[in-house]
Amino acid sequence: MAVSMTLVTEPPKDCPLCPRLVAFRAEAATKNPDWFNGAVPSFLPPGKEKKVELLIVGLAPGMGGANRTGRPFTGDWAGDLLYATLLKKGLATGTYDQRPDDSLKLKRTMITNAVRCVPPQNKPIGEEMKTCRPFLGATLETLPHLKAIVCLGRIAHENTLSALELRRAAYPFGHQARADLEISGKPVALIDSYHCSRYNTNTKRLTEEMFEAVFDDALVVMNQK
Ligand code: SF4
Repeated sequence: MAVSMTLVTEPPKDCPLCPRLVAFRAEAATKNPDWFNGAVPSFLPPGKEKKVELLIVGLAPGMGGANRTGRPFTGDWAGDLLYATLLKKGLATGTYDQRPDDSLKLKRTMITNAVRCVPPQNKPIGEEMKTCRPFLGATLETLPHLKAIVCLGRIAHENTLSALELRRAAYPFGHQARADLEISGKPVALIDSYHCSRYNTNTKRLTEEMFEAVFDDALVVMNQK
């Protein structure tokens, strides 16, 4: 895909494009008016897009996490594990305190979601994924130094492939599976992980060691000259 300076990577907070999600956001705002309750923007490192070598793609904001705080993976269990892992691997600095105004800063890393608004039961429908996909596609095209993508869960994996106009069947999902892609003429490794949800960790489908191994793989790619 050709790089364009007119690509829109972030929807407005009150993005009107998905009627079901707009209604769900409005319902959440009625119940909890102090929460963020909007399309959650991507989380960038200091220096913004030009510092990003790793893009982490999640599914969608959690109701009591990113939809509450306005920062991806902030305020729920998935964020506890993700940010602890990023800090351990040197991909973040500061302290993660479950608040968007904590001292945590990402390093070489950006976090986004395939669907930017909280969906009922954490399940966006196909039309919503398709409608939100151009923002993910634009994000992937506007990272000049991107070397690796970590997809958290099958839906993030499939949406990333579709955003890149790649055939899903050619790149099956699997924990720690790696696909070597080309984005804007440059090599980028797509590495999968089971989602760092409480369900997956409680059932031991995903252990801390398994999760860390994914980021070890990403770092090998990022540190290649
Ligand atoms: S999910 Fe994406 S496209 Fe749909 S309303 Fe939210 S920001 Fe807009």
